[in-house]
Amino acid sequence: MSKPIPTDRSESVFEDYKHEYDAKQALIEANRCLYCSDAPCTQACPTHIDVPEFIRKIATGNLKGSARTIFEANILGMSCARVCPVEVLCVGDCVYNQMGVPPIQIGKLQRHATDRAYEQGWRFFEAGAPTGKSVGLIGAGPASLAAAHELRRLGHACTVYEKRPVIGGLNTTGIAPYKMRADRSVQEAQWVLGIGGVQLETGVEVGKDLTLAELEKKHDAVFVGVGLGPDTRLGVPGEDLPGVHGAVELIERLKLGKLELSGVKSALVVGGGNTAIDGVRELAGLGVPSVTLAYRGAEAQMPGYRHEWLAAREVGVAGAFHAVPIGFEGNARVERVRLVRTDAQKKPIAGSEFTLDAQLVLIAIGQSTLGQMLSGLSGIGVQNGSVVTDAAGATGRKGWFAGGDCRNGGKEVVNAAAEGKAAAQAIHRHLGGKDA
Ligand SMILES: Cc1cc2nc3c(=O)[nH]c(=O)nc-3n(C[C@H](O)[C@H](O)[C@H](O)COP(=O)(O)OP(=O)(O)OC[C@H]3O[C@@H](n4cnc5c(N)ncnc54)[C@H](O)[C@@H]3O)c2cc1C
Ligand code: SF4
Repeated sequence: MSKPIPTDRSESVFEDYKHEYDAKQALIEANRCLYCSDAPCTQACPTHIDVPEFIRKIATGNLKGSARTIFEANILGMSCARVCPVEVLCVGDCVYNQMGVPPIQIGKLQRHATDRAYEQGWRFFEAGAPTGKSVGLIGAGPASLAAAHELRRLGHACTVYEKRPVIGGLNTTGIAPYKMRADRSVQEAQWVLGIGGVQLETGVEVGKDLTLAELEKKHDAVFVGVGLGPDTRLGVPGEDLPGVHGAVELIERLKLGKLELSGVKSALVVGGGNTAIDGVRELAGLGVPSVTLAYRGAEAQMPGYRHEWLAAREVGVAGAFHAVPIGFEGNARVERVRLVRTDAQKKPIAGSEFTLDAQLVLIAIGQSTLGQMLSGLSGIGVQNGSVVTDAAGATGRKGWFAGGDCRNGGKEVVNAAAEGKAAAQAIHRHLGGKDA
């Protein structure tokens, strides 16, 4: 069981930043689609949803069929419709872009169809005839959820082990609330597991509460979907002061509960990636009067999506570029950040120190990797902290598969969904099933 999450969470103040279509708007947008036969949008989608097909079904009033087309390729299609960076995926490859015409809003159309499925309680898939085989899945994030759903369709028994009390992984605990709130993600996870026959064990940390050897003994195959680990630290003086947090850790707190921000007049977020950009937008949205993002390179070098950063600027967030913290100061809690300017190579410039006031600091310079947890198992390769697999997700140890962030080093929900499903099909072949 997933633990119920409180209703009065900090994230609840955020409105949906992409307005949903009503039936008429969806129909008009669907009818703009050119239904390209080579469909670059479908190729750009990691789960290869047949985009022209689902849009054609919306245009002909067949919403149920449209939702089925989406879920057939991607069982997490409801959340992906909200959280996918469509500007660099399907929408970014719409042929209209080359004609100077606004691209088709694929995410919004996908949301229109999948939301109706949830509202109406439509279910499309059943568990397959039992094979007598069982698979253990570590983690209840998007990768494991997609894998478990596909494995159940193929008839294999599944047990999902999740160390947290809530399910959905970072889709529940990390996604910016103006894209999707935590309760939606939990609802989706429950809907996916609603196929039946998945045993869910929350509060069980594999490697601690259950050893890898015990897991291997209990199951015919194992899927590793553990995602990434805790926030990376800067390693500078004062980082342990109250008020200095890892970004993913603090975002989880605002998503699942109430964040106490009284007395925070200025906040600093360190980093230039998407988590840093989410962090500044979230703090500004929660009413922190002055929010600054500090990045060690130039604005144009930020690794986060440009469109997300521009949206952050619109809510009044400031940028401090070519700047990196060298220490945090304060008595009972952080009050000031000492920074140093950096040169074109992002190296500190001697004598260029300056300070910024901040009663709250988020360090968003990346997350650690968890691949090392498998290092005791012979045959499993770990490179730069990520689990090494073949294209389908098989590791070098018989019966062990992996997918999602722990395999790809940290991408998007849609990549985790694609890798989880592909690994489930590889597991099926391994267990002697017919070609999936
Ligand atoms: C702040 C933030 C914002 C993001 N925003 C977006 C976005 O807007 N759009 C998007 O597409 N993607 C976004 N992502 C990325 C996306 O959330 C991930 O790519 C995706 O969730 C990866 O899925 P996963 O299943 O591989 O891992 P996770 O979602 O991390 O799930 C792994 C699960 O495994 C559990 N686990 C770990 N170790 C163990 C263990 N030993 N035993 C049992 N359970 C364990 C964890 O508790 C977790 O629930 C964001 C990520 C972050 C950090
Ligand atoms: S899953 Fe994401 S990338 Fe794929 S078609 Fe839908 S919105 Fe686009």
